[in-house]
Amino acid sequence: MSEPDLREELVAAAHSLFQRSLTHGRTGNISVRAGDRVLITPTGSSLGSVRADDLAVIDLDGSHLGGRKPSKEAFLHLAVFRARPEATAVVHTHSTYSAAVSCLADVDPDNVLPPLTAYFVMRVGRLPLLPYHAPGDDALGPLAESAARAHRALLLGNHGPVAAGSTLSEAVDALEEIEETAKLFLLLRGLPVRPVTTRHVNQAPSIAP
Ligand code: ZN
Repeated sequence: MSEPDLREELVAAAHSLFQRSLTHGRTGNISVRAGDRVLITPTGSSLGSVRADDLAVIDLDGSHLGGRKPSKEAFLHLAVFRARPEATAVVHTHSTYSAAVSCLADVDPDNVLPPLTAYFVMRVGRLPLLPYHAPGDDALGPLAESAARAHRALLLGNHGPVAAGSTLSEAVDALEEIEETAKLFLLLRGLPVRPVTTRHVNQAPSIAP
């Protein structure tokens, strides 16, 4: 895909996430990688109104190559790209239900959400919870890089989810699956739950809707 097309695809995903309340205010950031160039939403922008010309261009070391100043959370995206060479897109939001789960004290930090649905298992898998860091604290980078080697998505403590994909739509799908599963998890708190098993997932005829 050409860089102008990548810009349009990124902006369309940003607007869609914002319009569906998966992010709010000036929170959340999206990046796509083309070779060693990364397009990322700029600092202080709203995913609801960001435009293709607003995007920042950085390299995989974080050097600013062009466009506006990149998001303060660009280091997180770069950590995931370093850990997952097949990833070409990273989406991070402060989605409400995922953020709520990220504040819970009694979850397993190695795997925050139980396997409630086959879609969650297939699109996300195990979801680790990383310890809280202040926004923009790049000490989170090495932790995210290490966790992303074995996981396609992460949940940042008291913050929100980060999802990677081999395409932007795959990353968006994973992020939405985290948010919907976090919502189910909170709806089911206190009720006996029957999670799906590997056998259930393998019996699924297709992931396609
Ligand atoms: Zn954030």
